[in-house]
Amino acid sequence: MKKKKKIALHWQILIAITAAVFYGISFPNLYTINIKTFEKIVKEKSQNKIPEETLIKLEELIDNQPVSKSEFTKIIQFKSSDDLSESQIQYILEQSKYNHEIGYIYWMGILFLKALKMIIIPLIIMSIISGIANIGSAGNLGRIGLKTIIYYLTTSTLAILTGLIFVNILKPGVGIDKSYSNSYEIPEQPSHTLFDTLLNIIPENIVQAFYNNEMLSIIFFTILFGFFITKTNSKSRIILTDFFNAGFDVMMKITMFLILFTPLGVFGLVAKAVADQAGELMKFLGILGMYTLTVLAGLLIHSAVILPLMLKFIAKVSPWAHFKAMRSALLTAFSTSSSGATLSLTMESVEYNSGVSNKISGFTLPLGATVNMDGTALYEAVATLFIAQAYGFNLGITEQIIVVITGLLASIGAAGIPMAGLFMITIILTAVDLPIAGVALILPVDRILDMFRTSVNVWGDSCGAVIVAKSEGEKLKV
Ligand code: ASP
Repeated sequence: MKKKKKIALHWQILIAITAAVFYGISFPNLYTINIKTFEKIVKEKSQNKIPEETLIKLEELIDNQPVSKSEFTKIIQFKSSDDLSESQIQYILEQSKYNHEIGYIYWMGILFLKALKMIIIPLIIMSIISGIANIGSAGNLGRIGLKTIIYYLTTSTLAILTGLIFVNILKPGVGIDKSYSNSYEIPEQPSHTLFDTLLNIIPENIVQAFYNNEMLSIIFFTILFGFFITKTNSKSRIILTDFFNAGFDVMMKITMFLILFTPLGVFGLVAKAVADQAGELMKFLGILGMYTLTVLAGLLIHSAVILPLMLKFIAKVSPWAHFKAMRSALLTAFSTSSSGATLSLTMESVEYNSGVSNKISGFTLPLGATVNMDGTALYEAVATLFIAQAYGFNLGITEQIIVVITGLLASIGAAGIPMAGLFMITIILTAVDLPIAGVALILPVDRILDMFRTSVNVWGDSCGAVIVAKSEGEKLKV
């Protein structure tokens, strides 16, 4: 019997993304109030400080025809005599969102994302411990660790410099109309400083660190655990190494099973993102087009020129073959905007397609997903300079050096989750004395840029694994 030819996974994902864009555009969000949402708003009225007057007006709107976001916003503002704040409007909009068609499919995205998140911690534990136990000696571990860290710092710095060159030449912020940003809430500053983040790498309570998803602490503890396995007597060492190797095998099997659902999950996630953003995004791409282009151009040069040159000349592998090996993981990074959620696919692609050993990828990739973010680093630099230009500040060479250093730290500190980079910008803005309110300027296009920078983050991690593996004399498939 002739074997049925299967469409390759990356094509399936690409088809899913394209279909999702059409689906999302065909079914944009509409807004209306029904009795249930009205009751919810009434119940929560005190915590959101919704004025009585507005409630009366909202009651009149119950079961009206669903309308577009701008129309609905106009209606609720017009109908209420009190001036509603932006956060109150956002709250009412969120409650009145009406999109059955997205509802039919979004659950697939939710389940997929949950499953990816579910396996992050066990995957990190098993992969790091088995990787380190297989590395064997302290000398080997030190050497591989050092190479990895040098690669991370070098590429992130190169990414920032690329971003700075583009933003200084193109000057996307000069003379832009900032008025739209007044209607946005400024995101809160991260509650702890970068120094706290460093201190918190050593957890007081490891169970709590697992519970709170504190990746750096989890990685620190698992590295320690893996390392001291190599110091135990031979019986314990064999039992534990076998145990974690076996555990890692299981995690990779689960990963491969979950990957089968990627096209469905991606379809749900992207369709929802498009339905939520489509109208708004077009409006803001008009104003922020030059800024968006500057970020994208920087990301393109870093990922399609600088990193491939490193692959070619340092690792002596084919960048194109490695890119092909990574396609599914990169598309998943794009769709989820989360390097953490993509980690399982990144590992699968780097090991099975590019041929990097578990010893290297098990150690470098979980670390990379948490601390190595070239795309984010580049974006932080461009965004900071863009805000400076928009406010008419001229950042000199000293300030730009501060941007490089704080940008690097911010990218290390940013978690591998959606929009983490946006919140880190406040740290850089503070360091160079720019108004934090400037973040509101770049907010409207952050979601879309997040998709691109996350793909670059994952690409950077995967190139690092290949370069370190090659330098250790591994024979790869690329
Ligand atoms: N979403 C990015 C990531 O997960 C982080 C960021 O917001 O820049 O890699």
